[in-house]
Amino acid sequence: MAQDLRSYLDLIRRNKPEDLLAISREVDPAYEITAIAAKFDQEAKRRPILLFEKVRGSKFPVLTNLHASRARLALAMGVEPQEMQRAYLRAMEKPIPPKIVSKAPVKDVILTGDRVNLLDLPQIVHHERDAGPYLTAAISFAKEPTADTWNCAYNRLMIKGRNTTSIHLTLAKHLWEFYRIAEARGEALPVAFAIGAHPAIALGCLAIGSIDEDERAIMGGLLGEPLELVRCETSELLVPAHAEMVLEAEILPHERTPEGPFGEFTGYSLGERQRQVVRVRAITHRRDAIFQDISVGHLDHMMLSTTPIEANIYRAVRAMVPSVKAVRVPAPFTCYVAIEQRAPGQGKNAILAVLGADLYMKRVVVVDHDVDIFTDRAVNWAIATRCQPDRDITIVTNARGSDLDPSTKEDGYTAKWGVDATAKPSLEAYTPRHRIPKEVWQRLNLKDFLP
Ligand code: MN
Repeated sequence: MAQDLRSYLDLIRRNKPEDLLAISREVDPAYEITAIAAKFDQEAKRRPILLFEKVRGSKFPVLTNLHASRARLALAMGVEPQEMQRAYLRAMEKPIPPKIVSKAPVKDVILTGDRVNLLDLPQIVHHERDAGPYLTAAISFAKEPTADTWNCAYNRLMIKGRNTTSIHLTLAKHLWEFYRIAEARGEALPVAFAIGAHPAIALGCLAIGSIDEDERAIMGGLLGEPLELVRCETSELLVPAHAEMVLEAEILPHERTPEGPFGEFTGYSLGERQRQVVRVRAITHRRDAIFQDISVGHLDHMMLSTTPIEANIYRAVRAMVPSVKAVRVPAPFTCYVAIEQRAPGQGKNAILAVLGADLYMKRVVVVDHDVDIFTDRAVNWAIATRCQPDRDITIVTNARGSDLDPSTKEDGYTAKWGVDATAKPSLEAYTPRHRIPKEVWQRLNLKDFLP
């Protein structure tokens, strides 16, 4: 499979031409890019990939909304939409290590020293109240300073000057841990950011698991071939050879800068906080590079992130409850799980598995397999009719969750809860559901009753 963004766009042009909309009219990077993506979704009920050819103040075209469709994400993995979770789990179980290459299109243009200027990039402001222009599609590539452990993640970067950004490192996650190790040694942490990537790379980057799991190999698993990496100009780091653009940088030790407010996936514009400082040492890019943006907090963002989260939660619950049937993340910090309960207590075990597997998860609802977790009304029905709150709600206090959850006391120090809405003692022994006799249902034909 070709592993660059533009081959994927060619695939879309061939398979789903209506899914890619090139816009030649000039747009203002302040609010208009996000606004047009959101208006297409809300007013036209369409979620095309948007390619803005002319963006005021920059020579780079901007691509956004790529991930706002499940069918497009499935196409990136080479499967049908209903096979996505299985395909993602397969990539986690059978990762393919990356390989190093020497020739790379991302090195067409190499800018170092005074030629580095982040202000030449599209200065995209997404929402009202945002503190400034943000890079939202930057995938970080970093190495643990004392070990051969690698990490990839999405990290939002706020442009602060020609060669400076702030970075939001999610508290207690892997890049934050790497940075803590470097900072304790008084060193900067080298990090490189790829912008403009094949969506299989975007999906692999969001894999959730142990710090030892190499997202680059999961990207390979999703691509079906080793991810091709090339060495950076200013560090030993390795970055995708076929990316549109790479920022080579380091996160400085013992320096902090105001970051935010910024409108996020939570649906809130969380306020300013002190965060780490990134110094950019080189920018490399393709000659006619496409600058990628993620319409943060909209479907482009939500669809991309839930697929890897759901796959990991499914994996974790299955390790505890082998008869798990389905997992869904319908809202921030929320997870629904359907299980075929074989023995009392498995509902609660599923809750424990979810809370143990994902830092962000705060609310887990477990139901029996006869409940369709893709219909919120059905989940509500199960909570209402199969749950006794004093018996079936579990609250875990003083745990770590998302530092973007505005309800937490301080930066993600939070309580978590699970609702066991399975029938007790068992579905078989429970009050039966009302039902129309099968024979009657099959005998009647609506045609006979229409005028
Ligand atoms: Mn990781």
